[in-house]
Amino acid sequence: MSAFALANFGGYDRPTLAQNESAFPPSPKAIAAGQDAIARSHLYPDPDWTALREAIAQAYGVERKLILCGAGSMDLISCTIAAFAGPGDEVLGTAYAYNFAASAAARADAAYIKAAEQDFAVSVDSILAAVTPATRIVFVCNPGNPTGTRIRNAELLRLRAALRGDVLLVIDQAYGEFDDQDARPIFALVGRGDTVVLRTLSKAYGLAGARVGWGLFPPAVAAEVRKMQNSNQVTTSSLAMAVAAVEDQAYVRETVARTAGIRDRFAHDLRAAGYDVPESRTNFVLIRFPDAAAAEAAESALRDADLIVRSLGGYGLTDCLRATVGPQEMMDRALRIMTDRRGG
Ligand code: PMP
Repeated sequence: MSAFALANFGGYDRPTLAQNESAFPPSPKAIAAGQDAIARSHLYPDPDWTALREAIAQAYGVERKLILCGAGSMDLISCTIAAFAGPGDEVLGTAYAYNFAASAAARADAAYIKAAEQDFAVSVDSILAAVTPATRIVFVCNPGNPTGTRIRNAELLRLRAALRGDVLLVIDQAYGEFDDQDARPIFALVGRGDTVVLRTLSKAYGLAGARVGWGLFPPAVAAEVRKMQNSNQVTTSSLAMAVAAVEDQAYVRETVARTAGIRDRFAHDLRAAGYDVPESRTNFVLIRFPDAAAAEAAESALRDADLIVRSLGGYGLTDCLRATVGPQEMMDRALRIMTDRRGG
């Protein structure tokens, strides 16, 4: 295998159930704006993302000057960790949190520590118990990936209040649009100067292929993160798509509602067939099997039907699979296979 080989989930030109992509294409307005912008590809993109920051500020009721954008939220996670953690430092995540933060910490030569989760959800008490004098960053995904669960805002506010002021709290809300909690109390934490909140257009907005993420950063933190970013990472056409997508809030609300409808029916029917499925606040579900062999057998039965789901051995969850909410027809086929296997 080439040193550059990446995990290949067999999609890219068609949907799978493995990557938490949207089941729906982006807003038609975003597609049209992207097509127009392609003709301006001889020009460099705006390195300050001015129009996108304005659109986000309007749609989310946040201050434009706190917004940084990047080539997906991965870019912002990497650059934040690189800016604030190095050799001898600890980045503290949680047991099942999106493991890209662990690889970003490894690249920064910082240690990555995992606090235990309870019932597949972030536990503020176990995070606080794992903090040491070397902790520089606490990284929390809410709602979580791969669990799909969420903790209440009040718990995150309690976490922030209990952490030392020199510990940067990074709250990754990649699935925030699927959570019905009021985002404002979390956005307001950024005003303290020690908290970052990250979002992406890869999930609810259906723009995973455009690679656009954004976040709210206190100005002093933003200055350090920008030193780590390459400029012009978000292309002209991606910026144009992102602006139009964020301006089309009616479309994203409808997409989120349709996704949640497919998700909740799928989860309900799986539970009725005897599977353990925690309540999801995202565009995927976690399915827990009696043991690893049962999870593996289901994964391969789904694969035989060209339905690719995610195995979670990398998180130590060998008895679980994660299934993204895909187009209804794929979910119907997945459900039939899962129901036929009940008890098997
Ligand atoms: N955070 C979480 C929790 C995710 O699940 C993902 C993608 N799966 C990302 C960040 C990165 O997304 P992107 O770089 O596409 O914005």
